[in-house]
This record gives sequence, structure tokens and C-alpha cells, in this order.
Amino acid sequence: MRISFHGGHSGDYCDHAGGKLEDVVRRAIATGFTHYGLSEHMPRVRDEDLYPEEIQRSRNPEQLRRMFAFYIQEARQLQYKYKNQIHLLVGMETELLEQNDFSPIDRICKTYTPDYLVGSVHHINRIPFDYNPAEFKKLESMLGGTEAVFCAYYDAQFQLMQHLQPHVVGHFDLIRLYRPDFVLSPTVWEKIERNLSFGISYDALFEINARAFKKHSNHPYPHPEILNLLLTLGGKVTLGDDSHHPDDVGLHFDRLFQFLQEQKISSLYVLEKDQQGRLNQKSVRISPF
Ligand SMILES: [Zn+2]
Ligand SMILES: [Zn+2]
Repeated sequence: MRISFHGGHSGDYCDHAGGKLEDVVRRAIATGFTHYGLSEHMPRVRDEDLYPEEIQRSRNPEQLRRMFAFYIQEARQLQYKYKNQIHLLVGMETELLEQNDFSPIDRICKTYTPDYLVGSVHHINRIPFDYNPAEFKKLESMLGGTEAVFCAYYDAQFQLMQHLQPHVVGHFDLIRLYRPDFVLSPTVWEKIERNLSFGISYDALFEINARAFKKHSNHPYPHPEILNLLLTLGGKVTLGDDSHHPDDVGLHFDRLFQFLQEQKISSLYVLEKDQQGRLNQKSVRISPF
């Protein structure tokens, strides 16, 4: 069974992605996905927070908001068009630019009512720490070292989880991207355990994210040590390809399934929308193909 609850970024609606949204969906169907969650990035609301590729295209926040509105509209059409072929959800991946600044997320959720949320943090103090190594370094000098950056990340994630209770927690330890060998201190572990436990308390699904393989890691997010703790605590997991192009759909799922086997994970969770529009979790057995 192939499933993904994080991805479907496309060149139609995201300047660091490529290809067409409908081709993402068609590819998911053609390669045997039964469930696919589209989770386009939430639009950022300030000029200062635009990414270089957006500045290059002379975007502004109002344009990003309009692109997002068109994304929701097309995704809803595709959800209907392909409803007999795939269980498609229309979701959104969150941003938290600054700690405790939830008004942009709240506004977007209220206006566009996505089916579900992927709770992700890509910024600390408005700095996009996963954009390139220089941004990460900037943050280290600002906060006083790698441990401080990790702590700030898990605190921001905790705030996000408390505020939104996202259905899916996205790439839980993305903060390791440029510091994969950083040894986690007891203080960081405490925060990790706190966040995992909180997610479990409100019945979150934690995404095992295959895009880490694309970024030259030999395991997905989260790191096996964190995943083990999550499973010991009784957490539920789902999968995400975090696709940014139709060619990314299911990318590295062969390695992902091998990893699941090594970790002895035999059941995953999916989200399904019922006739009344309610979102339900369902447990599924793993079979790679
Ligand atoms: Zn992206
Ligand atoms: Zn992300």
C-alpha cells in the first residue's frame, strides 16, 4: 500500500517546486497510491520573508496568497475529478515565522478550510534554517551555538503543536538537515520527548519523510533513535514523500519500505474524509507494492 500525507508541492503554486499539480495526482494514481495528501506551503505574509526565487519573479505576499487560493481551488477540483481512483486530501503545510505569531496561520485556515494540516516549522526568528547552510550558521551565531538552535526549534514546534494540534507532524527533526552528526544533549532530548508525548496526547500522526534520502541522508526523518522513542511511547506514524515535482511522487519509497522493515514497523495510519466531511484515522498494514 502506497500512501503519502505530505507533498504535492508543484510549480503551479510554489516557486521552489516544479511541474503541474494535476500531473502529481495522475502520477500518484499511476504508481498505485491509494491515499495522497496535498499540502502546499502556507503563503508568507511579509515582504521580508520572501525567498530569493520569489523575489527574482517579483512576487509579493498578496500574490502568494492568491496563488494559494488557486491551489485550494484546483486541488478541490482534482479531489472530485479523481475521487473514484484515489483518496485525495486538500491540505496545507504550516509555517511559523516567529514564535507565538499565529495570526497568519489562523487567518489562512479560517479562509480556506483545508482538510488537514501538516504541522511544520522551517524558520526560527524569521530565518529559514533549512534554506541553505549559511542561514543555519547565521542562526547559530545569533543564538549562541547548535544546541541553542535545536532547543529553539523544538520550542517553536511545541508551540505550533499546542496551538494547532496539526493532524500530521511534518519532518519532526528537520533541524538536523545541516547538522546531521550533532550529538543531542539531554536538554534537547527532553524537548523531543515532550513534543512527541504532546503529539501522542492529541492523537497526531507523525510523518516518516522520504525526502531526507534525496538530501543524502541514509535514513528518513525522523532519525531512527527518535522514531524508536516515538514508537515506545505509543505514537502513530504515516508516510510522506514531500514531493516538489511529479517525478518526486513516491521517490525513494523502495528505501523507505526497506527502512520500515528494518525498524519492524508493520502498521501505518491514513486519514480519510467521510461522507459528512469528518476526518478519520484508519490503521493499514504495510505492503510495499
Ligand atoms: Zn517546499
Ligand atoms: Zn517542509
